[in-house]
Amino acid sequence: MKKIIVAIDGFSSCGKSTMAKELAREAGYIYVDTGAMYRAVSLFCLQNGWMTETDMNAAEIEKHIQSIRIEFRPNAEGKADTYLNGKNVESEIRTLEVANGASRVSTLGFVRRELVRQQQLMGIEKGIVMDGRDIGTVVFPQAELKIFLTASPEVRAQRRFDEMAAKGEAVNFDEVLANVKERDDRDQNRAESPLRKADDSVVIDNSNLTRDEQREILHRLFQERTI
Ligand code: C5P
Repeated sequence: MKKIIVAIDGFSSCGKSTMAKELAREAGYIYVDTGAMYRAVSLFCLQNGWMTETDMNAAEIEKHIQSIRIEFRPNAEGKADTYLNGKNVESEIRTLEVANGASRVSTLGFVRRELVRQQQLMGIEKGIVMDGRDIGTVVFPQAELKIFLTASPEVRAQRRFDEMAAKGEAVNFDEVLANVKERDDRDQNRAESPLRKADDSVVIDNSNLTRDEQREILHRLFQERTI
């Protein structure tokens, strides 16, 4: 069986990471959550005051971009946690504030170039499943399997709302829906690598798919591409 690169792109809260993690586990591949990398940069900027809810100091961020080290290390449950300059930030990067900041720092060309460079290095030996917004278009245009995952904004907001509520966070559905739409808009309309479907990607709309149905579709595609 040949080793391939699997690129999974799509809107936020589509279930890309669940899909990507499952496939990576079954195939014995490395899984990389590139959204976590943009979130880590966002957290770093928020913590240092280079970004607030309304402002972003691009010059200051550019000065420090090379000092941001992002790694993934397995935790006790075997899942990968995100580390920022040696510190575990996995739970800190999952807040709405950090997500919102991630969609803003990800509009900066120098941030994207640095993270894309690191992502390409991770895939040098193939055997990798990477999810994000520009994996099939920019990071690995040569990926053997490209998926573009989508679902309606309401379905995605409900999933994100349920996830956050399950963690005991006080969230409001309308706020989550507004956040999903705002990020969609920013992801699709930014000048640098906007979210778009690669011509050779397979579109999966999972608004009305069960996890098993989705798993089956992906499994079949993976088998076809690895023969
Ligand atoms: O996927 P996730 O919601 O964790 O991503 C956080 C933000 O990072 C997204 O809203 C998007 O703006 C940005 N992102 C990106 N390119 C990627 C992955 C994420 O611009 N490859």
